[in-house]
Amino acid sequence: MIQLYQPLNFMGFVYREIKQAVTDIEAMFKLLAEDPEIEDKPGAKPLDVREGTIRFEDVRFSYDPDRPILKGVSFEVPAGKTVAIVGPSGAGKSTISRLLYRFYDVGEGRVTIDGQDVRDVQQKTLRNAIGMVPQDTVLFNDTIRYNIRYGRWDATDEEIEQAAALAQIDPFIQMLPKGYDTEVGERGLKLSGGEKQRVAIARTILKGPPILILDEATSALDSYTEKEIQDALERVSEGRTTLVIAHRLSTIINADEIIVLSAGEVVERGHHSELLTQGGLYAGMWDRQREADEAREKLARTGEEG
Ligand code: ATP
Repeated sequence: MIQLYQPLNFMGFVYREIKQAVTDIEAMFKLLAEDPEIEDKPGAKPLDVREGTIRFEDVRFSYDPDRPILKGVSFEVPAGKTVAIVGPSGAGKSTISRLLYRFYDVGEGRVTIDGQDVRDVQQKTLRNAIGMVPQDTVLFNDTIRYNIRYGRWDATDEEIEQAAALAQIDPFIQMLPKGYDTEVGERGLKLSGGEKQRVAIARTILKGPPILILDEATSALDSYTEKEIQDALERVSEGRTTLVIAHRLSTIINADEIIVLSAGEVVERGHHSELLTQGGLYAGMWDRQREADEAREKLARTGEEG
């Protein structure tokens, strides 16, 4: 029996290793996802970021020809400012970030950075200029240090630790027995959604791009973690042109402008307080989220008491 067990056990090991390698490759492709249809134009120039102003001009887009997703969207994110996009699920918020990163090309209209159409510049330079903190961060099956260094390969250990400190994840890492050399992912430590997002923020801080896309996680985080992530995001977005795809309205109260998107159209825009006064879609979303938060807190309190 033991004779049979050993080879089977070994095969199980090999299977797990192969499966893991496949997962890593998938993760890598997700990170580096490049649509083969999206190619540099012949003679495309490098993107020249002078200030970092983003403009969407009457952008129309659909994934499938018979289903328009964005129906003439226009807005500007002035250099160094923060604009948040909010709206019901499926409104097209993440699609906006994909068009800016040029995972897809617009159907009509244009997306520009400092006046340069993103379709006219070298993709490599476009993506170097943009830091993306996605909803679900994919971490490599490697150490925490490696995962942060991915933001900039020539970063020193000291720079990695500084970035982690700014992202509010350094104290957590320091507490681990192996610190920055702790393996994460399938083979090592499982990080929570909030921890993974802070690793992604540290990675982006290290990259130091002039433009940022923050795609907030949909899942509700506890209010302490949310505050920590919010602080980290505020630090990373300071002085950078930032587009926030927001699900939690409490995180964008201070945004320079909030764009409310519904079924692919901009239906309201303005500051948080202006939108509340208007009593429209945003005000309704705000009320519903407050009610849900209050109910959640009440439930948590009853749990603690009971
Ligand atoms: P959520 O708040 O739920 O993340 P969202 O506002 O970010 O939603 P998008 O992800 O931009 O919405 O999607 C807009 C619409 O486009 C949705 O109806 C979605 O089903 C559709 N869609 C998204 N990606 C694709 C795709 N690759 N192919 C076809 N349709 C897609």
